Amino acid sequence: MTYTNPAKQPYIRPLPISTKLWIYTNYDCNLRCSYCVAESHPKAPRRELPLATIKKIVDEAVELGFEGIYFTGGEPFILNDIYEMLAYSSARVPTTVLTNAMLFGNGRLQKLVEIKNERLFIQVSLDGSRPEHQDPYRGKGSWQRTVDGLGRLLESGFQIRLSTTETPANTAYLAEICEFRRSLGISDCDHIIRPLAKRGYSQAGMDVGKHNLVPEMTINAEGVYWHPLSTDPDLLVRAEIFPLAEAVSQIQAELERIASPQNTGREEFH
Ligand code: SF4
Repeated sequence: MTYTNPAKQPYIRPLPISTKLWIYTNYDCNLRCSYCVAESHPKAPRRELPLATIKKIVDEAVELGFEGIYFTGGEPFILNDIYEMLAYSSARVPTTVLTNAMLFGNGRLQKLVEIKNERLFIQVSLDGSRPEHQDPYRGKGSWQRTVDGLGRLLESGFQIRLSTTETPANTAYLAEICEFRRSLGISDCDHIIRPLAKRGYSQAGMDVGKHNLVPEMTINAEGVYWHPLSTDPDLLVRAEIFPLAEAVSQIQAELERIASPQNTGREEFH
């Protein structure tokens, strides 16, 4: 398989890892979900990546052949310069930003509308078709606030994906949740349903680590990690972000080192 960059130039060899690149823009959040793998909350240290660093990451990622950049947190829309980050990235490569959609009741939505383009996708976390599917984990009133924000984004014409975390509160209602999502005009292929992961605040869910996760290179202010599900020290690849090519090589080398016939459980974590 030959990967191509947006200018359609073939690369000499395909990237040895997932072509998704994740960026943790910040760790603070307006919510404190009880299953948050990032341990985010309103007073969490921000651990912000500066705009200039983001631009350099995007430039190198495009050069290396990454085909999609995903901005996550914390809640990225807490940051004042998230719009410039997204505009810069989506001008170069398909770009997705993850959000709880609760902060679009003021000027933020207008700023986002100003940078809207066909390569920008908004991924909204929504765990149900009713408050009782979501509020036990994400906070009282959170479902309604997310649905309100989602409605504003849809009215503004954004390309929306939904992300649902399966929990004991909603696992019996996944069909109903999908029906609700279809009623919003969001297609099946734009809906991710993933299990709980036992990381961060979550005391339950899948045990995840380098042994069973397909690497999806992830960057935060402290370095480069194996996968966006966790930036715990055991998933650190290297403390230096640049050059990104070095981190790709290290992931590949580590993948080869830990791969074995017994390691059959490695899966892409959706
Ligand atoms: S799961 Fe998402 S919305 Fe909830 S606290 Fe963590 S970052 Fe914030």
